[in-house]
Amino acid sequence: MNHSILQKQNPIVILGGGMAGLIAGTYIQQQGEKSIIIEKSSKTGGSMKMSGGSIWCFKNHSDYKKINPHGNTMLGEKLIDNFLPSIEWLISLGAPIKNVTAALYRETDRHCYQMTPNSEYFTQFITEKFLELGGEIIFNSNITQIKCNSNKLIEEIEIKTNSQIKSINCSSLILATGGFHNNPTLKNEHFGKWSDKLIVRGNLYSTGDGLKLATSLGAKKSKSMDSFYGHLMPAPPAEVPRNRFSEFTMYHSEHCLLLNEDGNRFTDESICDESNAEATIQQNNAISYMIFDDKIYKKYGIKKSISGEIINDPFKKSIEINALTTKENSIQKLVETLSYWGVKKEASLKNILGYNDYLINKNTSSISIPRAKNFNPIGTPPYYAIALTTGITLTLGGLETNENAQVLNDKNIPIGNLYSIGGDSGGIYNHSYGGGLCLGLVFGKIAAGNAIKYHH
Ligand SMILES: Cc1cc2nc3c(=O)[nH]c(=O)nc-3n(C[C@H](O)[C@H](O)[C@H](O)COP(=O)(O)OP(=O)(O)OC[C@H]3O[C@@H](n4cnc5c(N)ncnc54)[C@H](O)[C@@H]3O)c2cc1C
Repeated sequence: MNHSILQKQNPIVILGGGMAGLIAGTYIQQQGEKSIIIEKSSKTGGSMKMSGGSIWCFKNHSDYKKINPHGNTMLGEKLIDNFLPSIEWLISLGAPIKNVTAALYRETDRHCYQMTPNSEYFTQFITEKFLELGGEIIFNSNITQIKCNSNKLIEEIEIKTNSQIKSINCSSLILATGGFHNNPTLKNEHFGKWSDKLIVRGNLYSTGDGLKLATSLGAKKSKSMDSFYGHLMPAPPAEVPRNRFSEFTMYHSEHCLLLNEDGNRFTDESICDESNAEATIQQNNAISYMIFDDKIYKKYGIKKSISGEIINDPFKKSIEINALTTKENSIQKLVETLSYWGVKKEASLKNILGYNDYLINKNTSSISIPRAKNFNPIGTPPYYAIALTTGITLTLGGLETNENAQVLNDKNIPIGNLYSIGGDSGGIYNHSYGGGLCLGLVFGKIAAGNAIKYHH
């Protein structure tokens, strides 16, 4: 095998060329410094390229705290404070984004900048900008070794690319590999025994490499390792096409009733679909059965344009991909079909009727889990049911970092010149969410700025 040494003068090396890595690299180049992105796949973009392209963020600290009471407040506030300046910087580069009014997120207002016309075009733009500014990308590569000096500072990395091993002297290493949503062992460890059923909604290359490398150097894992951002999607035998995840996402589950195989409710469905997705992975076979009536279906299940035109109907589309679905004229018949699918009949009938009694007659003794909002009884036929499972988009636990995006050890001391950004860092959201692209944007720029300072 060939072994060559790249003749670069100590560039800042970035592992991963998705949202966070490309932002960090572009900022470094723009500041006149040198960076190299090592990308495991043959293309840039990662999950960013598959995303809906809404770069959004809460508008103030209190909204962040309201939705993320258990998140890392210091980093959450840093995110909010740096969001608009980071957006302004992106706009100053000529980035194809535009300010849009987004729907409230769990009753909170938010800033939203939409990648236009889509995230694929944005990926192309930011990749070209990075290259135009003199950045370098090495594709199909993986880091094989990190060498530190006697002060435990990283000074060289070794990468394997095709049949070559290359050594690169580096002034800092920025981890931006996107988290561990496609690592079966880590998912089993943190999300429990049904985690192998998770549909991977994000890119397939994020297998926790940043986390593994940093922990091998003594890094500490953040809180919220058992937390992820995902959505409910049709369960097998349905097969959701990987390029059409959004069309099959059951965003409206928060208006419906969810039962598990025992026929029991297991969560307050009204919190949000993301929370229902996390709760479903803890149920037998990672399955939940979403039940709704015609009123809910027409009001929340079908997405329409302002002029009334149907934009998306995930229930109808799920039938086309062989999901377990049914539409019945009575609750009795609905329960019979559920029973045919393996859901306990008596319990499911009792729980649907109890749920209605609670919502209509305010009879709290009819249910075991109260509901905070979205009081929609299952009352108007026809009645619908669909078998769902969880799609994982992004892990929310990861490396513990400080306000400079430096990776911390278990004594909360920065590990010299090692940084972590985007999905590789954890704890900002904890069993809650607040946008994924904004993390890469804000902390990508912060890590880059600090790595430059360190270089000098
Ligand atoms: C369907 C979908 C819709 C979404 N919609 C939105 C949205 O509208 N708004 C929003 O805010 N967020 C959205 N997200 C989430 C958002 O895309 C992610 O949070 C964001 O892309 C994470 O950025 P990142 O840089 O950490 O990871 P990524 O963008 O995934 O980039 C990680 C990169 O690292 C590479 N990599 C992995 N391992 C290695 C390694 N060992 N060495 C080198 N490279 C490696 C990967 O190949 C990848 O290119 C969506 C995600 C999906 C999947």
